[in-house]
Amino acid sequence: MKLPKYAIDIQGLLSGMPDGSWFTHAQIFDNLLCVANKTTASFVMKTSEGLIVIDAIYPKVEMFNAIVGAIEDIGWDPNDIKKFVITHGHFDHCGCGRWLVEKYHCETYLSKIDDEFWESTPFYPDKPDTWKDFKIDHYVDDGDEITLGDTTIKVLFTPGHTPGGLSYIFPVYDNGVKHMAGMWGGTNPPGAIGDVVKYLESVDHFTEETLKAHCDVPICNHPDFDNGYAKMEYSRVRKSHMPNAYVCGEEGFQKFNSVFRNLCYWKLGLIAESNGIK
Ligand SMILES: [Zn+2]
Repeated sequence: MKLPKYAIDIQGLLSGMPDGSWFTHAQIFDNLLCVANKTTASFVMKTSEGLIVIDAIYPKVEMFNAIVGAIEDIGWDPNDIKKFVITHGHFDHCGCGRWLVEKYHCETYLSKIDDEFWESTPFYPDKPDTWKDFKIDHYVDDGDEITLGDTTIKVLFTPGHTPGGLSYIFPVYDNGVKHMAGMWGGTNPPGAIGDVVKYLESVDHFTEETLKAHCDVPICNHPDFDNGYAKMEYSRVRKSHMPNAYVCGEEGFQKFNSVFRNLCYWKLGLIAESNGIK
């Protein structure tokens, strides 16, 4: 079997981000819903005291409607949205925050560094609709916990993709059986060598903390990177005798982390190539 060569189409990824023509969603755990457009995923977690939205795709009202529609489709109530937790200060994750805040008055969470980064460094200076447009209520940092009812999200500081990127560890339940999920916040490594090194150090930190927490469920906010669309499709048709596609065991979880190291090696290769280094 010959696998295709490792490559990421960054321009394709960037141009697909605003595409509001297609969405998919699936309830992937008892307490976790995934909603995605062609590039980016949002997650909605159910707790005993309401819903937590983690990341919210690109700032377009179609995206917001897709998230709300998916919540209603699986029988949850969007009026229960209490918190909006963001991995990092990029437009395709902060996305629909303004509507979540306006309509549901939810509390918002991000690192202070990425709140300032998002405000001071618009990814698209010529697209004001992608600029920072709502207030962050709570700055969170490494080791902090975000709790709603019976559910606690552990915060990890994992800079590299952005200067203040965050990753999260939280419990998920499959037919009542508890598992631990680890969500890596910033996917694609940055373009400068120093930042790639920072990213690799963050992968080490994420590895250490997810080992300690016995994580066995990798959660990815760009479904292209974890075969997420196929897993969502499987989740939608899954029967009671079939295993959950997201549960891969503790060893499998750590193997999955190699995706992020491999992304760094790929990026370092590109940087070397552009500098004429062989
Ligand atoms: Zn990003």
